[in-house]
Amino acid sequence: MAEVTADQVLSKLNELDLHLSPEINYRLETIFLEIEGFFVNKKIREKFQLVQWIEPFLKEVLLEHEQVLFVSRGGRELDCQRVIFALTNLRMLCMHQTGNHAGCPYWTIYYSQIEALKNTFLEHPKFYFKDGTKLSLRDFPKQELPTLHDVFEKSSQRFQEQELDPTVSQSRENICGNCFKIVSNQGNHCEACGANFWSPFEIGIRSLFFPLWGSFTIRPFSFALAELSTYVVFGLSVLVLEAKSNPVLVALMFVLFHMTASAVGYKLTAKGLYLKEVPADSAAANDQFDGSLNPDAPTRFS
Ligand SMILES: [Zn+2]
Repeated sequence: MAEVTADQVLSKLNELDLHLSPEINYRLETIFLEIEGFFVNKKIREKFQLVQWIEPFLKEVLLEHEQVLFVSRGGRELDCQRVIFALTNLRMLCMHQTGNHAGCPYWTIYYSQIEALKNTFLEHPKFYFKDGTKLSLRDFPKQELPTLHDVFEKSSQRFQEQELDPTVSQSRENICGNCFKIVSNQGNHCEACGANFWSPFEIGIRSLFFPLWGSFTIRPFSFALAELSTYVVFGLSVLVLEAKSNPVLVALMFVLFHMTASAVGYKLTAKGLYLKEVPADSAAANDQFDGSLNPDAPTRFS
């Protein structure tokens, strides 16, 4: 793949009438890797949409001299939840993609907390974190692997050379979805803004009674609605086809379905923070936030 320059990418984006926020410092040539070839306009538009989805989050959390170097996504192994991530010159920032919505939960991982980035035997990128946890992403675009490794290695090395090692409570730090400050791993409450988060147990129990209850609680409404349609079709099909001849089998299928939904809801909630309650005054302050940099960020680099 021929390398591109920032100017070439910028003129291509302008040609397609795609404009990223001028408030964010992007290294365009390692985010948009191609500007020529088959279906290139479609690929650029898809990548642009991905970057645009996470821009509101980036505006909240990026530090003064932080530059966004790489943006992509992949499906987490085991639960296949899609994760959008950005590599900056300081860290990795992640969030969930649910349908056409990007949002909670959010994480930040400094390079000092990432011990290695390797490929699995299926050529999926796999991050190994210092506290023993891992993040493997399937369906990651293979053509982006060399750039991902290159950006990671160089940024990580630069971080080490400066002997930076910010204090953390765990490698993958949770970020509050209301005030965007780091919430330590000590529970379901944000000390900074007073927001509360759903516990895995609460969502697990809701999903056990009614699988969509958990989804409607923590997922975007449109996504939960689509899941509800699937559940109704599944339920009606099972009832119509098997209710009379195999009532025990039908009951068993529903029990298994509810137990699976409960386990999935529990696991999702255990992996990150989903907002439950936001104090009224904090919500108002958040609505008025103008996107300027957070003056109380835990660690400032220059
Ligand atoms: Zn908060």
